[in-house]
Amino acid sequence: MENSRQKYSTNRKPYIYTSEQIEALRTEAKAFLPKRTEELATKFNIKYNKVTIRATRSKWGSCTRQGNISLSLFLMTLPEHLRNYVILHELCHIIHFNHSPNFHALLDILTQGQEKALARELRNHCIGK
Ligand SMILES: [Zn+2]
Repeated sequence: MENSRQKYSTNRKPYIYTSEQIEALRTEAKAFLPKRTEELATKFNIKYNKVTIRATRSKWGSCTRQGNISLSLFLMTLPEHLRNYVILHELCHIIHFNHSPNFHALLDILTQGQEKALARELRNHCIGK
């Protein structure tokens, strides 16, 4: 995890990943993201259905009405607090399936008042090519 953060700087764009790097990130993502999602969901008592890891480049994560969360394996290139932020964002969609003020209020509580700061920080990162 530490290594991947140093190896791939998501601050510099466009970073071009080799297929080997993508497979390494997928392995890390599968070991880390479902477990972290479960920990955060348990902590905040949110019930989701399942987590799928995909090589998504258009977004960091998504959530369906059925409670299925999809996370990009490129989350592994982010610092851990931003990874957690993306997971919390998707978990909040289980409660509010929209980006309403109620959604943002809940996410702000779960991030201890850091939602805006974290969203701003995340915008400085882009998914490589
Ligand atoms: Zn959203």
